[in-house]
Amino acid sequence: MNRRILHIDMDAFFASVEQVLDPSLRGKPLIIGGEKTDLRGVVSTASYEARKFGVHSAMPLATAKRLCPHGIFMRGNHARYRKASLKVRAILESVSPIVEPASIDEAYVDVSGSQRLFGGDDAIAAHIKKRIREETSLPCTIAISPNKLVSKIATDQVKPDGYICIAEGEEAAYLRPLPLSKLPGAGPRTREVLGRYGVQTIGDLAALPIGTLENVFGPSAHGLQRRARGESSSPVETDSTPKSISRETTFEQDLGDWDKLERVLVYLAERTAYTLREHGMETKCVTLKVRYTGFDTKTFAHTLDESTSVDSEIIGVLHQLLPKARARRDKVRLIGVALTSLSRNQHQLRLFGGQQSEKWEKVLESVDKVRGRHGFETIRTAKSVPRSSMRSERTHDERDNGAP
Ligand SMILES: [Mg+2]
Repeated sequence: MNRRILHIDMDAFFASVEQVLDPSLRGKPLIIGGEKTDLRGVVSTASYEARKFGVHSAMPLATAKRLCPHGIFMRGNHARYRKASLKVRAILESVSPIVEPASIDEAYVDVSGSQRLFGGDDAIAAHIKKRIREETSLPCTIAISPNKLVSKIATDQVKPDGYICIAEGEEAAYLRPLPLSKLPGAGPRTREVLGRYGVQTIGDLAALPIGTLENVFGPSAHGLQRRARGESSSPVETDSTPKSISRETTFEQDLGDWDKLERVLVYLAERTAYTLREHGMETKCVTLKVRYTGFDTKTFAHTLDESTSVDSEIIGVLHQLLPKARARRDKVRLIGVALTSLSRNQHQLRLFGGQQSEKWEKVLESVDKVRGRHGFETIRTAKSVPRSSMRSERTHDERDNGAP
């Protein structure tokens, strides 16, 4: 199963909502942002009829009035737009539970798991457009590609009332002819600098020797070029998408018995991995946290070549990290596991790792089902210790709303 990420952008959203509510406004140049008498302020949305006159959002109202003197100017009603936005969101959530609203009129939806249910990208897009039209009468544009970056760029290319589907492997070719200004993150300054190297299109940037790019932009050159090739792995983040999953235990008495510490660690790893799978996520970075007698805290981290949600792989990393933690002779007051660099579980995409991982995941899937029914304690591997031997256990899934 490929990763398929849908981006939806409502067309001239505020203006469209007003045109639906008052049919006399349809087909007319409508400008939302302020009354005709307002001298200050900017355009928040212009209908496509107004755009023909060069009016666009963020333009001063005074300029808009000059360009489109016969336009209809309105202050706008945010409560109305919010209501329409929530209706659209409910429709999206009926297609996939993984919906990330990017703004009042834009959202990302991870539709990888919805493919079979709906019959593919085209059918998913058609279904969403039809329901939005039937339930809100609003026009929208949809793009589906392997990632958020490419889908976001693509909706802008096919607006209004558009749809485009970019197949896996076609990302770079799709972006190649587009002007560099279409690439998020390539601001005026970046474009000016790149212009000196003859870079005009996204494809030019993708093809620039990395050494040249590094001389100009330093370490960020790699990220910039990856984006130009249409590569991006950032997950669609719902309100409940964790940024990291961690669990730690404080001991009643400081512990020097590393066999016991290791068993506790295995237990903590199983718990975090279970939470990870509950969220449908994988981890790429495993951190071992140790607080020694005297409150001195150290963390030891390891980044995996490939993301995983498999207990044994996470425990394997911890075993690699343990000698570093043991090197210090102090007793241990607290021990913990943190999983970071999380992404959506794409285990069907796994090209390496072989059959063993796949088999394990199948086993774990059924194990998770049993655990889900009877609580976590039902199934435990032999190496982990029961919960009762620990004084306190804290867990937290950190959430924040970072940029995509
Ligand atoms: Mg929009």
